Amino acid sequence: MTIMGKIEKGIICLFCALLGGCSTASQEPPPPLSKMMKVLSTTAMIGDLVAKVGGERVQGGVLIMGEIDPHSYELVKGDDEKINEASVVFFSGLNLEHGASLRHKLSLHPHAISLGDTIRKELPNRILLEQGQVDPHIWMDISLWSYAIEPISQALSAQDPEGKAYYAQRAHEAFLELMKSHEMVRAQMQKIPEEKRYLVTSHDAFAYFTRAYLSTDEEFLTDDWKKRMAAPEGFAPEGQLGAADLQKIIDYLIQHRGQVVFPESNVSPDALRKIVSACKEKGMNIHISPESLYGDSMGPPGSMAGSYPGMVEYDAMILQNEWK
Ligand SMILES: [Zn+2]
Repeated sequence: MTIMGKIEKGIICLFCALLGGCSTASQEPPPPLSKMMKVLSTTAMIGDLVAKVGGERVQGGVLIMGEIDPHSYELVKGDDEKINEASVVFFSGLNLEHGASLRHKLSLHPHAISLGDTIRKELPNRILLEQGQVDPHIWMDISLWSYAIEPISQALSAQDPEGKAYYAQRAHEAFLELMKSHEMVRAQMQKIPEEKRYLVTSHDAFAYFTRAYLSTDEEFLTDDWKKRMAAPEGFAPEGQLGAADLQKIIDYLIQHRGQVVFPESNVSPDALRKIVSACKEKGMNIHISPESLYGDSMGPPGSMAGSYPGMVEYDAMILQNEWK
């Protein structure tokens, strides 16, 4: 069994223990509540997990929809009411939502739960730090994001104790679905030759993805996987780049013989365009992927990338197409 396989098996056993066994016997869901519990999630990646766990007992909503940057999101008209009306609010945490008005509002809600910070307490070693800053993009490693399922199940059960068994059963099914997807994406990326697995994106949203899927087994256990990714912008896309930021990426592409850079759906591709044009002046044959990756947001509803873990599977498909 590979190192990743052992880690994944450990995760599955831990989760089964939390749920009190690995029984897959289906339970009849309790009748839907006459008034479903209102639950708000800040991002669509959370909203999808809540829907998987909450099923018919929960009326879910998402605050930051579409291709809006969640890092700097500030409250708009109507958001106050959405937050006030929710019995539970789930947010990503780890300083993802750092807009002042949203942070303040979350701090006032009696049942606002930071999934990222909950995961960090349980698995501090799997949370990435870069120059002292926490990397919030934990949903990009499906196995890590699967740790959000249990706190969601617990929080829903606390507000709706009658649904406890229902939530636990659905949480178990959701966990198995995510782990299956995680293993599939890892296997898919590992088929791509090592020398091609160097990822250049718009901003630093892909560190967890790179460690989980692009690393070799040896790199996974050290920091060596970090050499497999580069981006002109940091954790939060600010759009203010200097010549040195661009040169760093040009040098990286030269070093690793890169042939393609990947824009992201919610970030301006201007920096990547400048990089590609500078590379072309040096006689390098580099292009921008015509398909954007999904890092901070999901795709349109109904599309492959419009669900979780579909967005990660979609990214893997785009990388495979470009790196073949
Ligand atoms: Zn981001």
